[in-house]
This record gives sequence, structure tokens and C-alpha cells, in this order.
Amino acid sequence: MHQIVWNNCLKAIRDAIPEQSFKTWFEPVKPIKLEDDVLTIQVPNKFFYEWIEEHYLGILKKCIRHEIGKQGRLEYFIPMENQTRSSAGEPSFPKPLDSSHIVNPFVIPGIRKAKVESNLHPDYRMSNYVEGDCNKLARAAGIAIARKPGGTAFNPLFIYGAVGLGKTHLVQAIGNEILANHPDKNVLYISSEKFTQQVIQSIKNNAIDDFMAFFHNLDVLIIDDIQFLANRTKTQEIFFHIFNNMHQVGKQIIISSDRPPKDLQDVEERLVSRFKWGLSADIQAPDFETRMAILDAKSQLEEIQLPYPVLELICHNIKESVRELEGVLISLAAQASLNQRQIDVLLAKEVIEKFVRNYTREITLDQIQKMVAEHFNLKEEYLQGRTRKRSVVIARQLSMYLAKNLTTYSLAKIGGTFGGRDHSTVIYSVKTIKDLLDTDDGFRSTVSELEKKIKMSMAV
Ligand code: ADP
Ligand code: MG
Repeated sequence: MHQIVWNNCLKAIRDAIPEQSFKTWFEPVKPIKLEDDVLTIQVPNKFFYEWIEEHYLGILKKCIRHEIGKQGRLEYFIPMENQTRSSAGEPSFPKPLDSSHIVNPFVIPGIRKAKVESNLHPDYRMSNYVEGDCNKLARAAGIAIARKPGGTAFNPLFIYGAVGLGKTHLVQAIGNEILANHPDKNVLYISSEKFTQQVIQSIKNNAIDDFMAFFHNLDVLIIDDIQFLANRTKTQEIFFHIFNNMHQVGKQIIISSDRPPKDLQDVEERLVSRFKWGLSADIQAPDFETRMAILDAKSQLEEIQLPYPVLELICHNIKESVRELEGVLISLAAQASLNQRQIDVLLAKEVIEKFVRNYTREITLDQIQKMVAEHFNLKEEYLQGRTRKRSVVIARQLSMYLAKNLTTYSLAKIGGTFGGRDHSTVIYSVKTIKDLLDTDDGFRSTVSELEKKIKMSMAV
């Protein structure tokens, strides 16, 4: 029986691949047995096994399905090593072939389930993810999911928030927690970029079915930065099917994004609507206390001694991103050791200053107008309008002055955004404000405060 099955497979394979390849790779293969829908073939050595898996898995899978049925599987027998190996799943995915990472596309759910390499980083844990008001809901949902993946109402769990606020950390921590609670679950973490690459690769290799079949093995799929699927129609379509297949059978899906589902542009509506099925939880910028707790934890982890006033100074100044908080910490430690200096308030000020200055280039004209208008309690339109009212004129001139000082835009460009004024108006405004600054102390402190506020607001 196994001989007949294998001969039929060979016929199909011979038609599908070059004659020379067939001779090289398939003539030396011998069928050994067919038992419980598992066809075992003997290959000369491990190299054959790997080569066949890598290059001919798609066609083999088709043949096996055709001959034995959907539940059919293939096993290899390698005489030298005297062992059998299961067939690996997606050839290029997720890891090079290795007996400890074997994935089997023909696997019957629940039976002989192969273990998938999770791609999770062990350092991202729940225990080192500091809780704050900014992440309470997302964190709690994650913990609930980790207890019962797929068994809560939070499917999918959609976590969104600005860059550097801890999305990747949290989704990976949930993955690690799931594995800690349920070691036999198959969890996969993948970035949307990687996912897209895999789709493209699979299409190129004519192996998209294998790629999709791979996801049948998973219990939990974590996909990071889903906003990168924007405009990638084919990838979205594949993801849509994977999502449906997994969701239908109660597998857990965890998604992160830099914006809420409704703001995802160029992502198909049918996908966006599915993202809303479970729970959407946002992560916000941490408040002062949370920043203190995070920085304290990080400095202990990195074994960097931070005096309390330094801790406070950093957390007062760096507000928008945890990644930047870490950046300041590392940079501070580096400066201290390079220049053989103490980590003190003075050094911390220098480092913070540098960080903040690095970001000033990204200040937008829009932002300046918005914040000046806010400060003077004016409508933003006034800054672009023609009103000659003194208070408006000053605010308008000050905005131009700040635009000139805080951005690298040309005078013409700056003038243009203030209701189509020209560069000479900007020069005049800058001069007027400078004169005022020289003569009016109160005005000077207002301006410096405003300047600081704008810089900080952009320090992301
Ligand atoms: P995102 O994916 O949202 O851009 P990351 O997850 O990469 O952000 O987080 C940036 C850095 O900040 C990481 O090193 C992460 O460990 C750290 N971080 C963010 N939030 C927290 C938190 N609540 N507790 C501890 N570390 C955090
Ligand atoms: Mg991230």
C-alpha cells in the first residue's frame, strides 16, 4: 500500500519539478510504511531531509493530501541516525530546521502537536512591566488572557498607543506569561513587517497554502504594529483569513497598533471591524509617579545608581515616552563612565538638555501655532488672519519668532503658513520680538516658558 501511495506521489512530483532535481532528490527515497495515515519515507541522510523539506514541502503536502486525505502526514526515516522526523511546516518559517523546532502542517489538531518557536524575548515579562493608570486596562486584560488564552471576551485584544509607551513589551510579556501558565501552547510573536515579508516570500515560492496552514498550529498569535499593514492589500487579505480561521476555533489573537482601529488608514474595513470584536485598550503616556517607578526599576535592572534628585529631574523633564526615559538613563551612565563623572543633577541636566534639543528639529509650525494660541487664549485662525488687534499681532509675531528659533524651516515657508505672508514679515516680526525681550522681563519669562513647553511637547 505504501508503495502505491508513494508511486502516485512521485508521478505528480515528477511532473512538477525539473527532471534533474527529481533524479537527485526523489529517486533515492524509499517508502517504508503507511500506518494511521502516516506515510514514512526513508531518505539517505539528514541533508536530504532538510533539502526536501526546504524545497519540496508544498508539493509533497499536496500529494499526501491527495493520496491519504486531509489528515495525512509524512514522516522521514533517516537510517544513519536511526530516527524518524516529522515533516516541518512552512519551509522558511519560523526557524531553520532543527529537530527541536519541528512544525508539522499535516498535524491533526490535538494529536502529536508540534512545538512552534515563539520568537518571544524572555526579558519582556509581566513582572517587570510597571503598572500605572496609563496601562491598567491593557495590562489587566493581558493577565486575564494569560490565564485562559482564547477563553475570555478579549479576543482579539487590540492594544494601541504612541511609540515608546510599552506596547511591544506588554504583548510579549503576555506571550511569555501564557507559556509560563500553559507550556504546551503554541504562541507566535511576529511583527507586521516580518509577517508581510513572509507573505511576499511565500507568494514568490508558490507556498502560500503552506504559510497559511502553519497558523493552524498556533494557539496564540501576537502581531505587533499592525498599522504597517496599511496599503498592503494582499497581506491584509491573507491576515484576514488567518484571523478568521483562528478566531472561529477560539484561538487567541493579540494585536498592537500605534492608533485605535478606527484610525487605521488604508486597512480594509472588514479587518478593522474584526479588530473591534474583542477589547481595544490604549496605553497612554505614564504620569509622574509611574515614570518614577519605571525609571527606578530600570536603573536597578541596569545596576545604575541614581540619586533621588536625579531620578526626579529626569522624570520631570522626560514625559512622553518610556523609551526616551531609558535613553536618558543609558546616556547618563555612558557619560558618567566616559568622563569619569558622578551621576548628579548637573550631569543629568546636560544629558536631558541634549535629548530635548535632539527633538527640537521635529517641532512643527502647526504645533507652535497651536500652543501659542492656547497660551494667549486665542483662536488659531487669528494667527493666520489679518487682525491688527495688538494682542493678536504680538501672538502672531511671537509664533513667527518661535518658528524661526525652534525649527529649520525657511523664512518664506514660515511666512507662508501665517496666512501667506512673505519672508520680510517674518524678519520684521523676529526683530520686534527681540526688542521686546530686551526690554520686558515679564515678556521674557513668558516666552521662555512657552518655548520650554513647546520643546517638551515634541519630545517623543
Ligand atoms: P512600543 O512598542 O510601544 O513602541 P516598547 O514596548 O518598545 O514600546 O517600550 C519601549 C521601552 O520602554 C522598552 O524597553 C520597555 O521595556 C519599556 N517600557 C515601556 N513601558 C514600560 C512599563 N510600564 N514598565 C517597564 N518598562 C516599560
Ligand atoms: Mg513596539
